[in-house]
Amino acid sequence: MISSKVNEILNKVFDGYFITREEILYLLKLDPHSLDGGFIMTAANSITRAASKGKAEVHAQIGLNLSPCPNDCSFCAFAAKNGVFKDTNELSIEEIVQSALRAEADGTNAIFFMTTHDYPFRKYIEISKEVRSRLKPDTVMIANIGDFGYDEGRQIKEAGYTGIYHAIRMGEGKETRIDPKTRLGTMNAARKAGLLIGTCVEPIGPEHSVNEIVEKILIGRDMKPCYSGAMRRISIPGSDLVRYGMISEYRLAFLVAVVRLAMGREVIGNCTHEPNLLGAIAGANLFWAEVGSNPRDTEAETSKGRGFDVTSCMAMLKEADFDILLGPSAIYRENKCTR
Ligand code: SF4
Repeated sequence: MISSKVNEILNKVFDGYFITREEILYLLKLDPHSLDGGFIMTAANSITRAASKGKAEVHAQIGLNLSPCPNDCSFCAFAAKNGVFKDTNELSIEEIVQSALRAEADGTNAIFFMTTHDYPFRKYIEISKEVRSRLKPDTVMIANIGDFGYDEGRQIKEAGYTGIYHAIRMGEGKETRIDPKTRLGTMNAARKAGLLIGTCVEPIGPEHSVNEIVEKILIGRDMKPCYSGAMRRISIPGSDLVRYGMISEYRLAFLVAVVRLAMGREVIGNCTHEPNLLGAIAGANLFWAEVGSNPRDTEAETSKGRGFDVTSCMAMLKEADFDILLGPSAIYRENKCTR
């Protein structure tokens, strides 16, 4: 039988309340393979399906460039210190436009435009405006770039973006050269500029404590995002973190479920990355397809490496009994984000 404590916490979520730090911590410490662990994943699955009316979304990410990045995040293939990429490489405007048009034609619900942290901002805006003019007016564009302030946020908004993806990553400030306050400042600037925020607890490895996981869940929740979720760290050859190995997809699915419960009953979206079926049955209804560069891949063109395409993401979500949302993202909508 389900334990009375887990039953109490799940009832609180189903009744529409946010659970506390201590309650999230309690869930995170449970054995994912216990009966309680199973109830947690089933409850998360049920809440996601109720909030989204059984619809899942696939968002496409286009990595515009790669370069040895001086911020040296240990988990990233672009980090200069990891030595994966020695040269810079950028997609041309036409390549970006064609990738975006392909994603749009494939039925993706939003398109992310990702760069390394040091990509020139002015160039990003120029490219974005050109892409915007070539896409359908209701196609949702999301920016996934380095840190910025309010003025840049306004320019992103004016270039036609609905929102951003941003996160204070696991080990931020220790495994990266970026102060967590800088990341937080970007999310606040984006909100002030009228951009919606998507976030995720990422990238999680076996080296991370449950205390850090709960801290990142709550930072994300406080940002009032359109979705959160969980992504595991992929081992990048040459990285110091390789020695820890990676968490399993099962462990990741359990974390996806706990994040779902922590984010409350109303928010439509809950993501996991990389796409996997276990996550889709434990409360994830948002997958990413990827082309161009990818910080988890040693292939310069991730569609030849780790990146999934839109069709295979949709197929996996259908195997989990989701319907695929047709048209623009319902997750990136102001009145659907965490209150
Ligand atoms: S995650 Fe971003 S900031 Fe960190 S090394 Fe990679 S590109 Fe640079």
